[in-house]
Amino acid sequence: MKRVEILNVPIHAVSQHEAVEALIGFLNQDKLMKVYTPNPEIVMLAQADEGLLNILKDGDLVVPDGIGLIMASKLKGLGLKERVTGVDLTHRLLSYCGNSKKSVFILGGKPDVPEKAAENIENKYNGIKIAGTQHGYFKQEENEEIINSINSSKADVLFVCLGAPRQEIWIDDNKDKLNCRIAIGLGGGVDIYAGTAKRAPMAYQKLGLEWFYRLMKEPKRYKRMLLLPKFLVEFLIKG
Ligand code: UDP
Repeated sequence: MKRVEILNVPIHAVSQHEAVEALIGFLNQDKLMKVYTPNPEIVMLAQADEGLLNILKDGDLVVPDGIGLIMASKLKGLGLKERVTGVDLTHRLLSYCGNSKKSVFILGGKPDVPEKAAENIENKYNGIKIAGTQHGYFKQEENEEIINSINSSKADVLFVCLGAPRQEIWIDDNKDKLNCRIAIGLGGGVDIYAGTAKRAPMAYQKLGLEWFYRLMKEPKRYKRMLLLPKFLVEFLIKG
């Protein structure tokens, strides 16, 4: 799979369909595959954090989950195909897992949120098994116990919803201890599945204005969003 560098972060130039095909392939590998879904905010964080940059470089599938990355790619003709969000990817992966009896563990979100997400997923995707859940507000001392419960659940796929960059760092720190096939950093995806947050209506998504919808719903995000123009300027200067 071709990778495109945006401010030194290599991102796979895949369509949603190709990304899902890659994930299905990962289910048949005998090792953990690390999947990251960066947006411009994370790319900017990685500029000031070499550890995070190296974690992203080491991802087995790194998809552009942010319209800003697609805009940047278009500005320089780099060839990113389309926005690939974690929720779109996992939606298709969950359908596949339901049909092929693969199971999923959900880590992250506030207490009760991953359980609610599990219930909704089990109602929506035929045949899917949620092997376990764990909220994301645990102490470092509890980490080993959490790894044990993920491994003993025998889950094939792990959704890691701890927010960025905590989830990317967590996946990297624990990659040698996890027995599942895929660990995917999914941010607020758990809230979408739980129904405690909503995606923008399709019209906004199609116009590339999902960020605008989120800004209207959660005006306190404006500071985070100011990073987007900063990201584009930095990208135009440095690439
Ligand atoms: N979260 C968590 N543990 C933490 C911090 C965040 O489980 O220590 C969860 C939070 O409850 C939310 C998800 O991570 O469900 C994503 O958080 P946020 O919306 O900040 O991240 P984004 O999706 O914007 O990257």
